[in-house]
Amino acid sequence: MPLRRRFWERVIDGPIGALVLAGRSDDAQAALTKISDPSAFAGVQGGLPEGYVALVGAGPGDPDLLTLKALRALQDADVVFYDELVSPEILDRARRDAARVPVGRRAGQPGIGQDAINALLIEAARSGQRAVRLKGGDPFVFGRGGEEVEALREAGIAYSIVPGITAGLGAAAQFEVPLTFRHEALRITFLTAHKAKDADVVDWSALTDEKMTVVVYMGMTAARAVRDGLLAAGRAPQTPVGVFARATRPDAQAAVGTLDELPGLIEKIDGGPAVLIIGDVVAHSAPWRNSTLTQLASYFQVAAE
Ligand code: SAH
Repeated sequence: MPLRRRFWERVIDGPIGALVLAGRSDDAQAALTKISDPSAFAGVQGGLPEGYVALVGAGPGDPDLLTLKALRALQDADVVFYDELVSPEILDRARRDAARVPVGRRAGQPGIGQDAINALLIEAARSGQRAVRLKGGDPFVFGRGGEEVEALREAGIAYSIVPGITAGLGAAAQFEVPLTFRHEALRITFLTAHKAKDADVVDWSALTDEKMTVVVYMGMTAARAVRDGLLAAGRAPQTPVGVFARATRPDAQAAVGTLDELPGLIEKIDGGPAVLIIGDVVAHSAPWRNSTLTQLASYFQVAAE
């Protein structure tokens, strides 16, 4: 019964609910009886409720990293179209009776395709549903959110965009990599290197500034090409790098080393998704400090023996 539910949601969430909370129940009662057209009040016109699409960033995995706005959109949704990267703990935050529709691509398997996703979103909104398009991280960072918004705009569908914490920022916080650092790292580049052939088209010479931190998405399979490209362009082989996998999830994992060791670091990781962070700031990270401590400890142990 969408009309009834929406009517009461708007009563409770709106000024009438606020009057009740403020102890002014007489005023609330008066405002309620003044509603002459319940359908219009509930935003339902011509028998069909207004549908819309909220493009929502789910963050990198930890449900506590959802924004309040994202949570509200999830709790308001009739249907949630979600990506493969969205964790079950986050989907659990959607309204209990919301339909949950997976539309993501699994690595190695084709997804339903971007045009089909766009068509689903448009169809859901046209049938009066409040749809959430839930994407890992932020919708506008390597998430094809821009294409979806264009399709919605062309179709005349109402939409909103809720940003999320992108994977690179989640990894940086968890593993203590300050992406900028006074005098040391003055610029950040977010880069995608989906496949080695994508890595071939990157202009590596633009990324050799020592004071630039480079955050690479989808870079696991292209790690060798990333290393070769940066080294060939002149970035120092000793530049600290980190591979940060499944950041902010319970099974998060990191491997740190130097740029020339990058392909070997990938092998130490039990699968993605992972971001690569390249730059001197990685030497401040917790895994780097720990590995240095471990090395020092074993040196002193050997010396003491
Ligand atoms: N829109 C997403 C990125 C989608 S592209 C965002 O803003 O985060 C998919 C890539 O994101 C993966 O290949 C990986 O590089 C990165 N990624 C997503 N979740 C991650 C996580 N929890 N830990 C590390 N990298 C992650």
